[in-house]
Amino acid sequence: MRWRIRENVKRLTPYSPGKPIEEVRREFGLTRIAKLASNENPLGPSPKAVEALKAAAGDVHRYPDMAAAELKEAISRRFDLPPTQIVLGNGSDEIIHNLSQVFLAPGCSVVTGRPSFIQYAAAAHLAGAELIEVDLDAGARHDLSAMLKAAGENTRIVWIANPNNPTGTIVEREPLERFIQALPEGAVTVLDEAYYEFAAHEPNYPNSIDLIRSGYPVVGLRTFSKSYGLAGLRVGYGFMPPEIADAIDSVREPFNVNRPAQAAAVAALDDEEHLQRTLKHNDRALRRITGLLQRFGAATTESYANFVWADFGFDTQPLFDALLRRGVIIRTGAIFGRPTSVRISAGTDEDLDLLEEAFEDAMKEAAAI
Ligand SMILES: *Cc1c(COP(=O)(O)O)cnc(C)c1O
Repeated sequence: MRWRIRENVKRLTPYSPGKPIEEVRREFGLTRIAKLASNENPLGPSPKAVEALKAAAGDVHRYPDMAAAELKEAISRRFDLPPTQIVLGNGSDEIIHNLSQVFLAPGCSVVTGRPSFIQYAAAAHLAGAELIEVDLDAGARHDLSAMLKAAGENTRIVWIANPNNPTGTIVEREPLERFIQALPEGAVTVLDEAYYEFAAHEPNYPNSIDLIRSGYPVVGLRTFSKSYGLAGLRVGYGFMPPEIADAIDSVREPFNVNRPAQAAAVAALDDEEHLQRTLKHNDRALRRITGLLQRFGAATTESYANFVWADFGFDTQPLFDALLRRGVIIRTGAIFGRPTSVRISAGTDEDLDLLEEAFEDAMKEAAAI
């Protein structure tokens, strides 16, 4: 053999993305297609961000600002946290991997919920760390007392997606604070707040920034991919104690957030109107999807994100296939180890019209198979 790929790498399974619209169009010759599989913003990007992108296009022969000073300043002003406590990434996905590089090595462990966001497991495998997955509770929420029992002296990261992907549920402030206080020394809690803006209205929803200010060993992760509608540009950010931010700065790629992405993110952060429109639309969309799934007998969770998670009690692959043939792309829970569930993202009104039109026939077809 001329090469020896690391065993850790061979164990990784490639990320399986939602089915692309173009592929469904080609495969089934459909014109109406609703992609409800990737928790994207159905209203699109902020028009201000699009303007900023166009303006930045002529400068792409220049490397980006490695420190991303303007974007960091904008985030710093918005959240009242110094730039020294802010880290940027090529999507928050990158920061998940950066944190794993900073904290994990063979002999260390990480604790995550099951099911939860898949990148935590991939990053742990890559670092050769032990992955301890703790089942969610009966309400599909993180089971903090079971996670505390699972954490040990060698635990370096506890991942809590809050709201959780794929279930949309949250952990509340008080139990979370008690949990963080009780963790063994050396374990950092990472609150992945990719859906923060959708949950922020809930009074008991904790904010990573408050916990970091209180001096807890906490990292908060946010992204421009979901409520801000910039998934294709890849910009994520993190809040953390300065020492952790310094460590990430020394492992990250110098130019990890590209020039147009930096410009668009600054503009998007400033577009409060687009964000509010997004949140308002999301409320209605979640109610519509939840109502539909419940009418067909599924058990839905209370979602604080931009998608609905529901358990049908039967393998949902035939339902997925039947919806796909009608132009509706959803997710089955299979990639999360929950094949009887589905995850459906908030779409446009037209997307949800198509979902509602397709659903009864798809269910019949799925049940007949
Ligand atoms: C979508 C998502 C991310 C990744 O966001 P990017 O910034 O696009 O990399 C991270 N965590 C969770 C829980 C997500 O759902």
